[in-house]
Amino acid sequence: MKWVNHQVVTGVIVYAATEDFLLTAYSMAGAVLPDKLEGNPRSGDYWSWRSRHRGWSHWPMLYLAFIAVLRESERGHWAIWNSWDLSLLGIYLCVGALLHIAEDAVCGKVPFIMPKQKVGVKFFEVGSVAEYLFAIAVVIGCYLLHLLLRIV
Ligand SMILES: [Zn+2]
Repeated sequence: MKWVNHQVVTGVIVYAATEDFLLTAYSMAGAVLPDKLEGNPRSGDYWSWRSRHRGWSHWPMLYLAFIAVLRESERGHWAIWNSWDLSLLGIYLCVGALLHIAEDAVCGKVPFIMPKQKVGVKFFEVGSVAEYLFAIAVVIGCYLLHLLLRIV
């Protein structure tokens, strides 16, 4: 999925769930994190980048473990830092990364429980019209679900 669609889809999902612009912004930053960690495919050896593509940087357990560490830190069990705001920043960066991975899993394969175990389906090609239609459908779906949950 293109980065713009990762950010839009992630932002809409998180805003629909939290109604918080700051948490939405954190998650939108995290929505490109897994690809950013892989480096730029245009700088250096493309095939080296390609061999790392959707590897450990797209392993959900990494981000879930980081969220667990931040939550424990927030409870005061481990003193990484003493600011809940910084913990929320880290948690929602990871939420954005997790949503990025889920979004990649509908247009290819990504790691799941184990880093080398890849799962996913290819509903559309990255950058295709179908990808943009998928993103629009998610936005409309989140909006309608949000309205429905407000009514009930
Ligand atoms: Zn990706």
